[in-house]
Amino acid sequence: MTRIEVDLDLCQGHAMCQVEAPEIFEVPKHGKVQLRRETVDNDDLADIKNAVRYCPAQALAIIGDQRGLRSVQ
Ligand code: SF4
Repeated sequence: MTRIEVDLDLCQGHAMCQVEAPEIFEVPKHGKVQLRRETVDNDDLADIKNAVRYCPAQALAIIGDQRGLRSVQ
């Protein structure tokens, strides 16, 4: 199962992740990202890859399953 990892020390609350994958990421006003769930289905993967790619703080990573994904940049 694919899992999302967040480095809250790096997160600056830009909410780009929420724009790309609102089904996974929630960013409160003046807060840091919260995961709606930590494991993801393959159907969500494209949106999550975009969220990882466009996070300005590089705070997100995908920890992969059998496909060996570590992070997508
Ligand atoms: S885009 Fe990156 S820095 Fe912004 S809220 Fe999401 S994880 Fe945090």
